[in-house]
Order: sequence, then C-alpha cells, then structure tokens
Amino acid sequence: MILRIRTYPDPVLRRRAAPVERVDERIRRLLDDMLETMYAAPGIGLAAPQVGESVRVIVADVSEEKNAPLRMVNPEITWRSETTAVAEEGCLSLPEIYGEVERPEAVEVRYLDETGAERTLRAEGLLARCLQHEIDHLDGVLFVDHLSPVRRSVLLRRYEKLRRQRTPAKV
Ligand code: ZN
Repeated sequence: MILRIRTYPDPVLRRRAAPVERVDERIRRLLDDMLETMYAAPGIGLAAPQVGESVRVIVADVSEEKNAPLRMVNPEITWRSETTAVAEEGCLSLPEIYGEVERPEAVEVRYLDETGAERTLRAEGLLARCLQHEIDHLDGVLFVDHLSPVRRSVLLRRYEKLRRQRTPAKV
C-alpha cells in the first residue's frame, strides 16, 4: 500500500521516533508499505516518520536496478569514518529543494532485519549518505539542519514560496 508522505513543517518530522520493541507483522507490513511508497515516489530512502509513524524504522535502495531493498529496524550508527564527503541531498519531505551536505564518507550501522535478527552493515558512498539521512529522520533531524544558518533560511524561504504555489492546485 502506498502511504501518504508527510512534508515539512508536519510536526511528526521533528519528533524523536520510538524504538521498536518487537519486529512483528505490523512492522513487516510497515517496511513493505514504506518500500512501495519509496519506489513510487521515487526515492532512494524513506524513514517511518515521513509516513506519519514515529517509530525507528527505515528503508533504502540505492541500486540502479531497484532490486536491493534494505529493511532496517532500530538502526544505529556504530562507526563513522573520519573522512567526509560533500554531496547534494534532497528529501521527499522537503520537495524541490536541494542542498550540499557534508557527512562521513563511510559508516557502520547495526540494526534488526525484518525477522528481528541483529545485523551489521558497513556502507560507503551513496548508501552511507542515504542511511545517515534516514537515521537523522528518526531523531527529528532534516538535511537542512546540516547547512549553515544562512543557507538553511534561504532554502526554507524558497520551500515556503513553492509550497504556497503548490497548495491551491491540490485542494
Ligand atoms: Zn529525507
């Protein structure tokens, strides 16, 4: 099922999401619905707060063929490389604005898979960036928060302007 993607300034995006206590059918369905929603958007990652669920669940797929879905419950960054990289990021919850974000180039993430088994993934490049962006969402952090205050306010002003233009067409 395709879920509705919440956009800024929806308050659920600023909430700290709760850990999942048990990986059950409900969580597995959420993971599948989030993947379907992400592919349809289209996007390369999605965090549960972006579909209005304040729980620590993310999905991602950075493959060209869109055949490498990752389902992560309670993901936690356990290691960050000292080297960083800068690249442009966007967000399904902040449509049409983009900014250059500096992040560690590689990370190690510990998480539970859809069966509840503990796993560890070492990621670099685009996947590392995507996972950091999605895990940020679980703490109420958006990519614009990593920008300088000046850059952030320029982007958010542009976003507000676009949002006002978009709204009449939707109602
Ligand atoms: Zn995002």
